[in-house]
Amino acid sequence: MAAQYHELTEEQRIFLEMMTDFADKEVAPLVEQAERTGQTPRRLFTRMGEMGFLGPRYPEELGGGGGDKITECIMVEQLGRVCAGMCGAVVAHSGLGTMPIYLHGSEEQKERFLKPAIRGEKIAAFGLTEPNVGSDVASIQTRAVRDGDNYVINGAKMFITNGPICDYVIVAAYTQPEKRGLGINLFIVEKGTPGFTVSKKLEKVGNHAAETGELTFEDCVVPAANLIGGRECGGFQQLEDTLLSGRITYGARCLGTAQASYDLTVAYAKQRVQFGKPIIKFQVNSFRLAEMAMYIDIMRSYLWRVARLYDAGVNVKKESSMVKLFCSEILQKLTGDAMQIHGGYGYMSEYAIQRHWRDGRLFTVTEGTSEVQHMVIARQLGF
Ligand SMILES: Cc1cc2nc3c(=O)[nH]c(=O)nc-3n(C[C@H](O)[C@H](O)[C@H](O)COP(=O)(O)OP(=O)(O)OC[C@H]3O[C@@H](n4cnc5c(N)ncnc54)[C@H](O)[C@@H]3O)c2cc1C
Repeated sequence: MAAQYHELTEEQRIFLEMMTDFADKEVAPLVEQAERTGQTPRRLFTRMGEMGFLGPRYPEELGGGGGDKITECIMVEQLGRVCAGMCGAVVAHSGLGTMPIYLHGSEEQKERFLKPAIRGEKIAAFGLTEPNVGSDVASIQTRAVRDGDNYVINGAKMFITNGPICDYVIVAAYTQPEKRGLGINLFIVEKGTPGFTVSKKLEKVGNHAAETGELTFEDCVVPAANLIGGRECGGFQQLEDTLLSGRITYGARCLGTAQASYDLTVAYAKQRVQFGKPIIKFQVNSFRLAEMAMYIDIMRSYLWRVARLYDAGVNVKKESSMVKLFCSEILQKLTGDAMQIHGGYGYMSEYAIQRHWRDGRLFTVTEGTSEVQHMVIARQLGF
């Protein structure tokens, strides 16, 4: 056990043991089929909901675990260690797809959407990115126009995790595009709403166990009660709050993949014999593994430190971007080294390391690319 686990409170340690056990016994058996078929098992949500793992940080009165940010990070790391794809599906649900409702939603929205999501009965998605707009969020083209007690939404959303399987999606749309950025709103759009369609399920290089889709909204009529925050033009702040929290959690996703890559590589290097000895005995390989262990330790230490500051109410806008940037970029080195130590076998589909390498490649791109994280950090430093 890493020395860092001794920093955990008793409650966090108990949660870690439960989550590790759950990931190994209940999630790991689902991986092969989910990866092969490209389908996220519904059972993942149902079981995690039953176990109370879908909202570890949401208050108990909403059905959540009442835990802290580190507890949420533990859930994400353990899931990510077993399967980055399923971890991505869960994070899109219990993070981005529900956080705006928790932070800014009405009691009715919490009752109708958040509680069933925490129970695993409804699957959530979060739709910000569009076919023509990714990093430049303020340029989104989706529009919502008030019509009596409703809003009529038109637009398209691209690369949406859980899009093909969601029961509802939180959609970012402008009501007042002239107020660049500040005119954005978040709406809850339910599956089955006329005009809302999954126009395409997308084929990806990795993270096959998460389903990704392109969504279309064509004269899609949504009740005004589904506007998060209850007043127009509150979306920008809601996005900021949600993405900040998500960037910390993202470090835990990277950590899960890093830890899995390290564990697999140590095991491989101990049993692979060349020149008459296990390849771990060659200094170059043991040094690489020592470095991997060091970086994983630093990733986890920094992640947990920022998680603690976040819980203490400290403004961690800069640090949350630093977590995301550092963990996702270091991960590229770690999975690359892990592949190298695996030699030719690492490139073979039957060896799990290639999955972690492919899956982890995504992490410098989603929820704000590395370049965007640099911009946030530089701006926070006043540059
Ligand atoms: C598998 C997957 C799942 C996803 N899930 C979701 C989801 O659930 N919900 C959602 O809303 N989105 C989702 N996304 C979208 C993701 O967040 C975007 O891909 C990401 O924000 C980048 O946007 P983009 O792909 O349009 O790249 P672009 O914004 O077009 O950027 C392309 C490149 O240019 C760089 N760049 C852009 N602007 C600048 C600048 N000003 N200075 C320097 N460099 C710049 C970028 O860093 C990047 O390297 C997902 C994407 C993928 C691939």
